[in-house]
Parts: sequence; C-alpha cells; structure tokens
Amino acid sequence: MRRRVASAAKPNPAHLALAKLEGTLGDRLFLCTQNVDDLHEQAGAKHVLHMHGELFKSRCDTCSRAPFRDTNIYEPPSEIPRCDCGGRIRPHICWFGEVPFELDRIFHALDECTVFMAVGTSGVVEPAASFVAHVSGRARTIYVGAEEPANASAFTECHLGKAGQVLPELFASFS
Ligand SMILES: [Zn+2]
Repeated sequence: MRRRVASAAKPNPAHLALAKLEGTLGDRLFLCTQNVDDLHEQAGAKHVLHMHGELFKSRCDTCSRAPFRDTNIYEPPSEIPRCDCGGRIRPHICWFGEVPFELDRIFHALDECTVFMAVGTSGVVEPAASFVAHVSGRARTIYVGAEEPANASAFTECHLGKAGQVLPELFASFS
C-alpha cells in the first residue's frame, strides 16, 4: 500500500532546492533523510543517506544478498515472496524497534559539520531528534518547517514556513 501511495508522489520545491544545493556544494553537503520514498532522487539528488531505509528496495531476511530495487506491489493475501535461498523478502526499511541504517556515517558527518539543518521533521523521533544536540555549540543550527518542532530550543535559528519557499532563500546565502 505504501509503495502504491508513494508511486504517485512527486518532488516538491524543497526536494528540488536540496538537489540544486548538492550540485553547488558537491560532497560538502551530507543529505540524510528519514523519508523512505525516493523523492530526493527524483529531484536529482545523487547521494542521499536514507537512515530509515528505502521503500522501493527489498532485501532477504536471511542471506547476505544486497538490497535490490523492487517496485512490486504485493496485494494481500498473496504470499510473502521468497529469495532463492528460501528466506523471506522484506522491504528495505527500518521498522519500529530496528536500528536505523548507517549511524556511523551519520555521526561522522555530524562531527565534521559546520552548518546543521533539519527540514520538516517533528523533533520527536530518535535518534534523529538528538542530532542537533550533538552539534550544538560548534555548528550553526537551523530548523526549517511549517511548525515548530518539539526540540526547537536546541536550534539557534528557526525558520517557520513552507520549506519550498524558505530553502531557496537560505541556500542563496550559502554559496
Ligand atoms: Zn536470501
């Protein structure tokens, strides 16, 4: 169901602004998302770390076969698809209780960053909600979103508004 819903979504101006920023900054931008859709990629972003995984990928729950692109929409009550090894194929996303992906790379990027920006996130879901506290005091910390996040006090700047409108103006001041 989630694949079917996500298939119909299109990138918004915020996705496009971030992809454009990547074009300007190259590997000086570390783009990490909690979203499992592929809208950043559709907008043209090349290097996106999906800490909660990717809805349009699947993996085997048993063998070490690499995650693979999978756009199939399995209608219930169809059986769970099987890998050649006999294991069950599951979505390559982080379910509740599972550890997010690539936290080592994320914390390395946090250690290095000079500007930290959170966009459109609630500030509630851990560990992402604590990223700003990790860089506090040594990086410029910016929040952009329609509503104040739960961890607003941890940011030095809060820009409330539609990300698609706020981001292009902010990014113009970065380059
Ligand atoms: Zn397998």
